[in-house]
Amino acid sequence: MKWWISLQAELGNFQQRRTIYIFALKMSFIAVILSVAIILVMLPVLRWLGLLPLPLLEAIRLCILLAWFIGGIVSGALALLAGYAIHKLAVSRAEFERLSRTDMLSGLLNRRAFTEALEEAKDDASLVIFDVDRFKTINDRYGHASGDSVIVAVSEIFSSNFEGGDVIARLGGEEFGAIVHGRDMADRVARIEAVKKMIADHTIAVDGGAVKITISAGIADIWGERKKEAVYAAADKALYLAKALGRNRVVHESEWLNHIWHRSQVEEDPVTAPYLAEQYRYGHGI
Ligand code: GH3
Ligand code: MG
Ligand code: MG
Repeated sequence: MKWWISLQAELGNFQQRRTIYIFALKMSFIAVILSVAIILVMLPVLRWLGLLPLPLLEAIRLCILLAWFIGGIVSGALALLAGYAIHKLAVSRAEFERLSRTDMLSGLLNRRAFTEALEEAKDDASLVIFDVDRFKTINDRYGHASGDSVIVAVSEIFSSNFEGGDVIARLGGEEFGAIVHGRDMADRVARIEAVKKMIADHTIAVDGGAVKITISAGIADIWGERKKEAVYAAADKALYLAKALGRNRVVHESEWLNHIWHRSQVEEDPVTAPYLAEQYRYGHGI
């Protein structure tokens, strides 16, 4: 019974009001059936002890009637009250859960929610790490509140461009993460390039003026067996290269490998060259 009640009171379902009524109905029905069963066992015993003032059949009929009317109504009302209490709990738990996954400034997902989403991501997707270029100068010139306005404005552009199966989150400071889906790698890179351009073309109002900002992005591909730490590290390195190459840039990991491999070939580094060559061939399916 205890197990059955906990099963019925599964918090997730109690966010809908309909569940409360179904729960109350089921509970009162079970209460009545149990009362009737107890009555049917008790009455013959009472009669045998000579404690029943009515004929047995009449007493059974009366007790069953009372069980349905009084027992049903009372237990139904109590279950309804309990249902409402569980409903409130379910709603506040869902809200708490939502808040624990949301970044308060931007309203996007936070790092915790993003890490979970990344763990679930499968093929035909890329991880993108975005970072606002020279963000510190905005804070220094216009103040921290203006820096925050920039974060909010950039977040709005991101959330209107990454929808459906895509995921966008604020990882911290002026750094954002996205899981982007698309036909192929070229398609995904083109989408990121378009967002980067959109941000560069946008003017953001801040305290005491208006600013234009740019972002850099590092992209790494997600595929079946590839460890998510490796994807993250590759996107991070690509972002680093985007910064090093002058910012306002999107760099795919293959470009990073290309770059490093070329350098290691030029420098003929015996330690890194074979490893990078292997990575390069793997990344390009050669
Ligand atoms: P880069 O192009 O190399 O990324 O340069 P940058 O100035 O953007 O990067 P840096 O890491 O030097 O500076 C980031 C600054 O962001 C430093 C920190 O004070 C500021 N910052 C971090 N979180 C917040 C925030 O929530 N709001 C505001 N306004 N500033 C923040
Ligand atoms: Mg930055
Ligand atoms: Mg940063």
